[in-house]
Amino acid sequence: MNIEALLEASYMNAIRRFLQENKREYDGRIHVSHVLQCLRRSYYEIKTPPETVPNFNLFIGIGIHELIEAILVRELSEYCGMIRNVYYEVEVSNGVCVGTPDLIIEFDDYRVVVDLKTTKYNLPNSKNKFAEKMLEKYIMQTVAYVHMTNSDFGILMFIKRQNGKPKFFRVERNDSIYREVISRCKRLKRALELDEEPEGEPDVFCEPYIDPKTGEKRGGCPFYDSCPYVRKLVKHEWW
Ligand code: SF4
Repeated sequence: MNIEALLEASYMNAIRRFLQENKREYDGRIHVSHVLQCLRRSYYEIKTPPETVPNFNLFIGIGIHELIEAILVRELSEYCGMIRNVYYEVEVSNGVCVGTPDLIIEFDDYRVVVDLKTTKYNLPNSKNKFAEKMLEKYIMQTVAYVHMTNSDFGILMFIKRQNGKPKFFRVERNDSIYREVISRCKRLKRALELDEEPEGEPDVFCEPYIDPKTGEKRGGCPFYDSCPYVRKLVKHEWW
């Protein structure tokens, strides 16, 4: 092996290892993030986890997120109390639902959940179906965290990937969204216990796209090809 080949192999391996270490392994508890997407997809991701491949975009996304969180914490610590890297659990009838907000800030008698999102979209953006669906999932997640941590409200902090500009979106407590999250946690847990796949919930993120430069499949659901719930012939009919 020459030195270039060694460098390339080490680089790819380092990315794969980083992603593997940052993977959320199923430990019997249902994480809020498991129920933000189609329950059928989460069911199969837990039962038959896809192999970790060196995905550069995902690597950059996680890396940037960690970096922004760390520098933000350093600055904010001069002004307010903070809690981070804590698991919040809620017992449900058939198990435990867990949430891991990025940051909880105690400021001016308020307790606020802050969730950082690096994104290529302008959010909110009702003209873009991907952005709209993404925002819906983020709101659901933040509402769950606000309730689980007994906070006053939540803030989604969007960082635009193209230029690093922040934008803020306030999320209020919402009992009905929180009940929906908890109910989805119970459904997923029951499906796993009974070995019964939940119904698919097709949306704009199901279908992979073909990279025009490389011809490779990117994004989309890893279980798309075998999914009876997506109608491949009438593309995007559910949008
Ligand atoms: S293709 Fe869509 S509906 Fe089917 S499992 Fe995946 S996310 Fe769910």
